[in-house]
Amino acid sequence: MNPDLRDSPSVITLDGPAGVGKSTMARRLAASLGVAYLDTGAMYRTLGLGLGAGAADLSDGELRRRCAEYRFSLESCPSNPDSLCLFCNGRMVGDEIRTEKAGRLASLVARLPALREALQSVQRDMGRRWSLVAEGRDMGTRVFPEAQHKFFLDARPEVRAERRCRDLAQRGEAADKAAVLAAIRARDEQDRTRAVDPLRPAPDAHVIDTSDLTPDEVLQSLIHTVRAPAFSHLAADGSLRMVDVGGKGESERVARARGVVEMRAETLDLLRRRALPKGDVLTAAKIAGIMAAKRTWEMIPLCHPLSITYADLRFSIQDEPPAVILESEVRARGATGVEMEALFAVQTAAATIYDMAKAAQKDMIIRDVRLVYKAGGKSGEFTAPG
Ligand code: C5P
Repeated sequence: MNPDLRDSPSVITLDGPAGVGKSTMARRLAASLGVAYLDTGAMYRTLGLGLGAGAADLSDGELRRRCAEYRFSLESCPSNPDSLCLFCNGRMVGDEIRTEKAGRLASLVARLPALREALQSVQRDMGRRWSLVAEGRDMGTRVFPEAQHKFFLDARPEVRAERRCRDLAQRGEAADKAAVLAAIRARDEQDRTRAVDPLRPAPDAHVIDTSDLTPDEVLQSLIHTVRAPAFSHLAADGSLRMVDVGGKGESERVARARGVVEMRAETLDLLRRRALPKGDVLTAAKIAGIMAAKRTWEMIPLCHPLSITYADLRFSIQDEPPAVILESEVRARGATGVEMEALFAVQTAAATIYDMAKAAQKDMIIRDVRLVYKAGGKSGEFTAPG
C-alpha cells in the first residue's frame, strides 16, 4: 500500500461522464491500494429511485427531511468482510440501482442543490473516516477539493456507448446501440450543463482519455501516478509552478556552500599582494556574494524571496594546487531553506574572482561548487560527506 495512504485517511478522486468505466477503474484502483471504494453515483441512484422525479417539486426543507431518511454508510461487505460496501439504512446497495431508469432518475435528482448538499456532507464524513477512492462527478471539484490525487476519465461518446452495450450484452440484456448513445449524450448534457456542481475536471486533475486504452492500461496509468514521487515544482498538467509555502511553519534556516577557483601560482601571488589591475579581488568577491544571496529569488525562477538575516563569504588561499577556496554562509527565518542563496552566493563570488583576475589569466577553473551544510525546516540537518 502507498505509505501516504496508510497514515491518515486520504482520498483519491475519480470523476468523469457516464459509461467511461469509472466504476471498474475505481474499484480496481481501491483494491490495489488497499483502500475503500466509494461509489457516489450509487447514492444518487438510490435517492433517484426512492424519491422519484417528484423530488423536484418538493420544497428544500421537505427534500432535506426526505434525504435524511436515507442513512448511507460504508460497512463490511457480506461477501468479503475485509472490504467495505455501500449500505443504505442497514441494507447493502445492490444491483437494483444498475438500470437505465435509475441512472436517468439519478441525473434528474442530482440537479437539486439541497439533495446534493445532503449527500456531499455524508461523502465528506466518509472521507474523514476512511481512505477512499471516491468516484462520481464532483469528487475533485466539490466534495474533496484537497484530495491527494485527482483523476478525470473521459472517452468519446461512441466508445462509451459501445462499452455500455457490451456490458449489457454480458448481463444478457438487449442493447440498442443508437438508443444507448442517445441516452449517454442526454446524460452528458444534463450533467455538464446543470447549475450546481456541473461535471468538469478539477483544474488540478489528471485528465485521461481512455478511448484508445485497455482497462489494464488505464489502471496502470492511475497506479503509476499515485505511486510516483510528488515533484513539488510540477503542476498536475506537467507545467512548472512555484511551491506554495504559505502553510509551512517558519524556522531558523542556515546553509553553507563551498567552491574553488583554481589558478596559476603567479595569478594567486598577484591576488594575494592585491597587485591585480582591477584592485582588491576578495573584497569585491565578498560584496558580490552577499548581494547575490540577497537577490537569488530574482535569478532562480521558482525561488521564493526570503528575508535574509545574515550572509557572508569567507576565503582561504591554498598553495598546492594554487586556488582560492570560497565558503558562503546564509541565514534566514522562513518557510523555505537558504541552500539556493548559499550556492548562488558562492558562484557569483567565484565569477567575480574570475572577472577581477582575468587580465592576468584566462584559463582559471571554477569547480566543486556544492552545498556542504544546511539546517532547519522539515528535512532537518544535512552535512555533505567529506
Ligand atoms: O455514476 P453513475 O452513472 O452511477 O451516476 C448516476 C448519476 O448521478 C449521474 O449521471 C449524475 O447525474 C449523478 N451523480 C452526480 N454526482 C456524483 C455522482 C453521480 O451528480 N458525484
